[in-house]
Amino acid sequence: MIESALTHLECTRCSAMLDADVEQHSCACGGPLRGRYDLEKAARTLTPQAIEERPADLLRWGELLPLRAPHEMATLGERETPLLALDRTSAALDIAHLVVKDESRLPTGSFKARGAAIGVSRARELGIRTFTLPTNGNAGAAWAAYAARAGMQAHVVMSRDAPPIHRRECAMAGAEVHLVDGSIADAGRLSADLSKSHGWYDASGQREPYRIEGKKTMGFEIARALGWRLPGVIVYPTGGGLGFIGIHKAFEELQALGFVGPDLPRFVAVQSSGCAPLVRAWHDRSDSAAEWANPRTIAYGINVPKTLGDFLVLDILRTTNGTAIAVDDSHIATMREQVGREEGILLCPEGAATLVAAQELRKSGWIRAGERVLAMNTGSGLKYS
Ligand SMILES: *Cc1c(COP(=O)(O)O)cnc(C)c1O
Ligand SMILES: [Zn+2]
Repeated sequence: MIESALTHLECTRCSAMLDADVEQHSCACGGPLRGRYDLEKAARTLTPQAIEERPADLLRWGELLPLRAPHEMATLGERETPLLALDRTSAALDIAHLVVKDESRLPTGSFKARGAAIGVSRARELGIRTFTLPTNGNAGAAWAAYAARAGMQAHVVMSRDAPPIHRRECAMAGAEVHLVDGSIADAGRLSADLSKSHGWYDASGQREPYRIEGKKTMGFEIARALGWRLPGVIVYPTGGGLGFIGIHKAFEELQALGFVGPDLPRFVAVQSSGCAPLVRAWHDRSDSAAEWANPRTIAYGINVPKTLGDFLVLDILRTTNGTAIAVDDSHIATMREQVGREEGILLCPEGAATLVAAQELRKSGWIRAGERVLAMNTGSGLKYS
């Protein structure tokens, strides 16, 4: 049986070490927490060959996941997602090697299933029965579904402006939906209040240490699918930034295991020009991002005006020689049509945003001729049709 090599949680600000086997949210200093592993122990059983012999599910990476009882994991049949080559679109964009990792086919229609499968399962292991989280939609849908699967109660807080389909997805999975006027930042404030007043587990993005461990499997899968040769550039639609941080964490762990070489891809954080707090902070050379006033974009998954992970995203941009770029909603809509027509792929707006960014960065020369570029389609385009 595969055994988790999780040893403790570490604060991303002050490096304090915390016990991973009791309920934890943030460090006393306010910093988000990260799972840390005994990588030498993991390497004894997690070998490239062992990986090939295992089913292509999340537990394939079980040594580097936090579940102590993996056989009890709440699962809806998550499977490795494919890298799709975009032959016509890459020619149109003048990018020689362009692939999209297509997360649309995961349960509940987005990569949020990865974080929810691991986060909900880990919470149940720790004795949690009821939790609350703020969402723009996809995280709520995923956490609601996995809560039902695990026999737990979810409370989901979202903006009245969130696409109605997400509200229905959560309700259909038996979650209690709380609506707020305002953005996901306002939803976050109400969710934190509900957690305090009712004693519900706070499962909000950066106050729940384990969803990122599920999300990092995107990075493991990318590395394996490319024969342990990482691409030159990774383009990610960034809201809270957890997927972005997770993919980077995966690559660092694979480097420590010796599966991949010392060069990391250059990371690109893509936002919409209607909500671009991280892009603004990047251009201001700041190491934190102030809340964006009046956030507004059709790419609802990245309509996030403020994230506690801001300093981590900005740090990854700096250390990988990456960049942050804002794209217009009108270009997102055009790109969805182009890729639908040329490739038969119905992207979500967030996914289309990554291709608009790739196009603009190629035009400016930031992406060099011949560079291998990986873009992320983070969710199903069907939710937006
Ligand atoms: C949540 C979400 C994002 C943003 O992901 P983060 O990792 O939170 O930055 C992007 N696209 C879609 C479809 C989402 O649901
Ligand atoms: Zn700390």
